Amino acid sequence: MNDRNDDLFAAARTVTPGGVNSPVRAYGSVGGTPRFLASAKGATVTDAAGNEYVDLVASWGPALLGHAHPDVVAAVQEAATRGLSFGAPTEGEVQLARLITERVRVGDLAPIERVRLVSTGTEATMTAIRLARGATGRDLLVKFAGHYHGHSDGLLAEAGSGVATLALPGSAGVPAPIAAQTLVIGYNDRAALEAVFAEHAGRIAAVIVEAAAANMGVVEPDPGFNRFIADTAHANGALMILDEVLTGFRVHHAGFWALQASLGEEYLPDIITFGKVVGGGMPLAAIGGRADVMDLLAPTGPVYQAGTLSGNPLSVAAGLATLRLATPAVYARVDAAAARVADALDAALTDAGVVHAVPRAGNLFGVVFAEKAPHTYAEAQAQEAFRYAPFFHAMREQGVALPPSVFEAWFLTAAHDDEALTRIERALPAAAAAAAS
Ligand code: PLP
Repeated sequence: MNDRNDDLFAAARTVTPGGVNSPVRAYGSVGGTPRFLASAKGATVTDAAGNEYVDLVASWGPALLGHAHPDVVAAVQEAATRGLSFGAPTEGEVQLARLITERVRVGDLAPIERVRLVSTGTEATMTAIRLARGATGRDLLVKFAGHYHGHSDGLLAEAGSGVATLALPGSAGVPAPIAAQTLVIGYNDRAALEAVFAEHAGRIAAVIVEAAAANMGVVEPDPGFNRFIADTAHANGALMILDEVLTGFRVHHAGFWALQASLGEEYLPDIITFGKVVGGGMPLAAIGGRADVMDLLAPTGPVYQAGTLSGNPLSVAAGLATLRLATPAVYARVDAAAARVADALDAALTDAGVVHAVPRAGNLFGVVFAEKAPHTYAEAQAQEAFRYAPFFHAMREQGVALPPSVFEAWFLTAAHDDEALTRIERALPAAAAAAAS
């Protein structure tokens, strides 16, 4: 029987390609009708037909505090009364930049001296690459297979997220000479990194890497791998761009870089990109780095970057409110909730006899239908991905919303209380049984 979601999806497809404004939302890999969301509060979302779900998508990461946290909503409302967009600098932008520089440090390690605000993670990584090219005078970029850094031309080769879900090698519409500027190598492969620098000596501007891969499923960097990237890039006159769009301010109050540094793996990226949590659910992202690199951006330097809505006052208000509320206690709560769901997921699949792994990176985790947690994109792709669709739908029928792709991480929030977590735990055995068949 058709419900309001089906009607809306049919209508959407007549006016929007595939009925969605971002591909994975279309449920292509799990089938069925995407839920059109009408509202979200705390740990739950409600669809257009009035069905409520415990949410494990969290807007693909931003909702660290839970949906529509009252203090964040109030901050945005208050900002809105003062004007929606000025196209001029504001005091809030100074406060947010200062908060980011002060927060992203561990002991004497302080990788961020300057911050530029933009509107999306895609803009942040795109700008970071231009900056690295401007700083080094070199053209080539190294990225890792399965890593997703947004949808700019040079970054779609063997990318994760929707590119992985749709099983695309890249994207049509990217001119071959641009694609040729990106050298794709295997993740966690030290020899490949050394080889690419040896082969293209003096021509590589930067290595870009997700701080922990979470767009081909969750794949943690091997111990020491991120430091090895920093050392190898620096030894060859290139920069390290650490992409914390997904992990930043989510896995730790100062990001995955800081989590690693606090555990003894210290390294200094030259540029770090942030998105998602830093905007608290509003369109906002950031590029941060050393002053000598960042000051190459216009107007102080020759690398051009701009944006009508950059540093939008509503987005800045949401970001400031979110980061101020994201205390160590919040991270402890999210970590505990994530561990509880990850353990329950593992146990349910074990009980149902489904071959699986539950890879984790800080409080990020996901499910892999393979014997071992993958280290590379090839291993992530080699799983029995067909098991995810029945699993996903069984969870949804029991009122739990998962990401509609096996290649996406599950996101907990500080609003997932015992009741929400219990609802997830109760739904898992039937979903695991569905995955088994
Ligand atoms: N970088 C990473 C690691 C991401 O996970 C994403 C989005 O999922 C992006 C960049 C792109 O961010 P946005 O979707 O805001 O453009």
